[in-house]
Amino acid sequence: MSDLVVFLGPPGAGKGTQALRIAKKFNLTHISTGDMLRDHVSRLTNLGKEAKSLLDEGKLVPDNLVIKMLTEKLREGDSSRGAILDGFPRTLKQAESLDEIRDNFPVKKVIVFEAGKDELIKRILLRGKTSGRSDDTEDSITVRLEVYEQDTEPLIDFYEQKAMVIRINAVGGVDDIYKQISKEF
Ligand code: AMP
Repeated sequence: MSDLVVFLGPPGAGKGTQALRIAKKFNLTHISTGDMLRDHVSRLTNLGKEAKSLLDEGKLVPDNLVIKMLTEKLREGDSSRGAILDGFPRTLKQAESLDEIRDNFPVKKVIVFEAGKDELIKRILLRGKTSGRSDDTEDSITVRLEVYEQDTEPLIDFYEQKAMVIRINAVGGVDDIYKQISKEF
């Protein structure tokens, strides 16, 4: 059995940066569905071809595709010491899919990153200058923030009901935020 910790929050909140550091420190596997999808896009796999325009536009890749990709990764990969899920689940259906495989991979905690919209837009545009990400553009950011509010934010309630939520103020220095999160591991 290996425990999962979910990093949940809007785009630009710093989930990826923190997930990398925390995973390294606590010897956990870092699983970013965004990174996995970008890898598919660059390798021109069937999934990558299907996902490319959705990623560019800031829309979600269909649940069935992402759920399949993630479950395979958990089953095949070395997540035996536990894993951080960065960017999954993003919909209720995805969250329910985790419940279905929870015997082997129970979700222990959900770290919710909180930051205001203006701050997020500023950060993503700044990141876009160096990230090379085709979705770090103004048009795509608007869609990504809408999608977050509509599809992903309701998951906070879903996990609140299970008393799993830990809220982190994601505005401030990277090191301070890292310290806040570290205390939860
Ligand atoms: P991220 O790197 O987490 O910001 O994800 C980048 C993009 O990949 C998102 O805007 C979606 O198009 C896609 N994506 C990543 N994770 C998921 C997911 N769990 N469900 C659907 N689409 C996803």
